[in-house]
Amino acid sequence: TVRTRVAPSPTGDPHVGTAYIALFNMAFAKSQGGQFLLRIEDTDQVRSTRESEQQIMESLRWLGLDWDEGPDNGGPCGPYRQSERRDIYDKHGKELLEKGHAFRCFCSSERLDELRKEQEANKEGSGYDGRCLHLSEEDVQAKLDAGEPHVIRMKIPEEGTCKINDMLRGEIEIDWKQVDMQVLVKADGMPTYHLANVVDDHLMGITHVIRGEEWINSAPKHILLYQYFGWDMPTLCHMPLLRNPDKSKLSKRKNPTSITYYRDMGFLPEAVVNYLGRMGWSMPDEREKFTVVEMIENFDINRVSLGGPIFDQEKLSWLNGSWIRENLSVDEFAERLHGWLLNEQYIKKFLPFAKERSEHLSDFAPMANFMFSGMLDLQPEAFAHKKLDEDQVKKVLQFALWKLEAQRQWNKDNIFGDIKTLAKDMGFKIGDCMQPIFVAIAGTPNSWSVVDSMEILGPDMSRARLRHAIN
Ligand code: ATP
Ligand code: GLU
Repeated sequence: TVRTRVAPSPTGDPHVGTAYIALFNMAFAKSQGGQFLLRIEDTDQVRSTRESEQQIMESLRWLGLDWDEGPDNGGPCGPYRQSERRDIYDKHGKELLEKGHAFRCFCSSERLDELRKEQEANKEGSGYDGRCLHLSEEDVQAKLDAGEPHVIRMKIPEEGTCKINDMLRGEIEIDWKQVDMQVLVKADGMPTYHLANVVDDHLMGITHVIRGEEWINSAPKHILLYQYFGWDMPTLCHMPLLRNPDKSKLSKRKNPTSITYYRDMGFLPEAVVNYLGRMGWSMPDEREKFTVVEMIENFDINRVSLGGPIFDQEKLSWLNGSWIRENLSVDEFAERLHGWLLNEQYIKKFLPFAKERSEHLSDFAPMANFMFSGMLDLQPEAFAHKKLDEDQVKKVLQFALWKLEAQRQWNKDNIFGDIKTLAKDMGFKIGDCMQPIFVAIAGTPNSWSVVDSMEILGPDMSRARLRHAIN
């Protein structure tokens, strides 16, 4: 039976790209009567968090992209979280060493840095030069006895080309000379993506690997690993990446990329999935609106077109409106609004601030309006500032946006820290910098603390409002 998987790394907000890849994996598996798995690739212990994992699972579930096996519901091939599978990778790393397909490399990071610089200066060669390939067994043993830190790298053929078969592209050839002797096991004993991914796809019985095209260059390493282990290779299918309207790769600098943002903006999950289904794919009858079930019934992977699909929020908004107006009864609309508007978990985050400022219950709606809005209707007068001129106000907003785009840990202390640094660098008082940010986020300078609001609204919504205020 067909088995596919989506294998996100839980290192940030749940990405629409992850949902897009999950949708196509699910549609393919289900259209073939197969199974769809969720595997969490958290071998990067520094960047992976349980919170991000939780958000990815919630987002995929919100979209109705349910998995047959995964970290929460288990299954016959578990555990489905790579950090819990270390022994398995350890064993497979050793197997490759024993078979002579991999070698221990003791090169220090200083040496590797130097090598890289030399290669760049001479414009010749790239990647590891294979120095440790030539260590004798005695040398290796001596270094091991001395406890020298090392990694395990895979051997790569010196000559020839690797042929990759891709469901959408046919045969692709890559010269082995262009393929690096990839590290498989890091100095701390953790596997890299490549080893863990191949071992798991095999042990989990994955028959078709459908993933973003950014992974094509990794395919030769994976093909070689399957050969080294003596395993059958799953079929590969690399999907075109989502793009911004200007055709660049979809990035949070230009477009909100977090699924949470689309939920908070009030998009319906069926509209988002419908739109993702139209990214490089279409129904045989070209109809614009369809459900996941209809997509599965009509799915044919050969209908994926390779031109980069453009993820355009305006088109998505149009589609969403059409779902609301044409597919929801008034009762259903009420139900959706109820769940979205009266989300207690969300409201309780800012109720304490609202309570402090209330005389009547009726004060709440006008005061909290911006916590339930998408982009605000801002009048230029709202930005009038006692101390800063129009240009300076724009600069404050632009610099704040740039700073906050780089902020990886989204909480009020860090947001405040960023604005404080900004004020200092620009030579303005912090309060003077805060005012335009207040207006961009809350529509007025008279609201509760804007850094609290930004923490609650989240990074994508906050940045989108700053961007909206600048334009
Ligand atoms: P980058 O660092 O390349 O700008 P990012 O930080 O926005 O991307 P990542 O954390 O690298 O996102 O990726 C999260 C997940 O989303 C990955 O599974 C990745 O394959 C997927 N992804 C990222 N960008 C795209 C895209 N343009 N199209 C499809 N999937 C994408
Ligand atoms: N963990 C990888 C990612 O985040 C999985 C890539 C793959 O599907 O092989 O995209």
